[in-house]
Amino acid sequence: MGSIKDYFSGLGKGVASLVKGLQVTGKEFVTPKITEKYPDNRENMHIAQRFRATLQFIYDKDGNHRCIACGTCERNCPNGTITLETKMVDTWDGKKKKKIDRYIYDLGSCTFCQLCVQTCPTDAIEFSNDFEQAVFTRSKLVKQLNYLPEKPEPKPTPEQIAKFEAEKKAKLEAAKAAAAAKKAAEGTTPAIELDEKAKKALAAAEATGDPEKVAKVKAALEKAARLKAEKGNA
Ligand code: SF4
Ligand code: SF4
Repeated sequence: MGSIKDYFSGLGKGVASLVKGLQVTGKEFVTPKITEKYPDNRENMHIAQRFRATLQFIYDKDGNHRCIACGTCERNCPNGTITLETKMVDTWDGKKKKKIDRYIYDLGSCTFCQLCVQTCPTDAIEFSNDFEQAVFTRSKLVKQLNYLPEKPEPKPTPEQIAKFEAEKKAKLEAAKAAAAAKKAAEGTTPAIELDEKAKKALAAAEATGDPEKVAKVKAALEKAARLKAEKGNA
């Protein structure tokens, strides 16, 4: 049987232990909670901005994206997660332009390495932190990221039209000047005498009655004769 001293010693230790326990409880009582009441707090729960949940297109408020269908993201993806379907469209200045038709992303094979985002030259894609991506079948993880209708090609500004017309005119004039210079050079070229064999070939061409063919054969024969004469003079 213990003494009275042991009794009070044990009682004191019990009270000290109780106070210590209450201190821990009190501290936890005022510490901010980190447990989320998901899904009750779905609307305002905190998800780190840098959390990578799924790839998405960046659309501006007018529904425009910046993808130029260059294919860099598709080539850099180590898993073949991205598939681009592209199309060619006509532009107002008569050129052809490659545009994105369908941007396919398979969330099921993405490793969230972010190589696609980092190598995109136009910053057209980003990772969203929307973590609620659970679905019942794998096929639903394959998404088309350009989900808004594609916009038609923008109309040219008056300045662009003026520049285009000026360039077209300059090219036309340069071509005319080159043609005139060529004609003048041909006019100054001394006539060359064809030998008998060439004359026969020219006569045969003339017999066909095709002026285009005659001109071509004549030019070729004269060129050959000129080259022969130049070789002989050398
Ligand atoms: S998302 Fe970027 S890298 Fe990928 S095709 Fe579009 S512009 Fe190119
Ligand atoms: S994050 Fe990596 S794996 Fe996922 S689509 Fe981009 S490049 Fe491919």
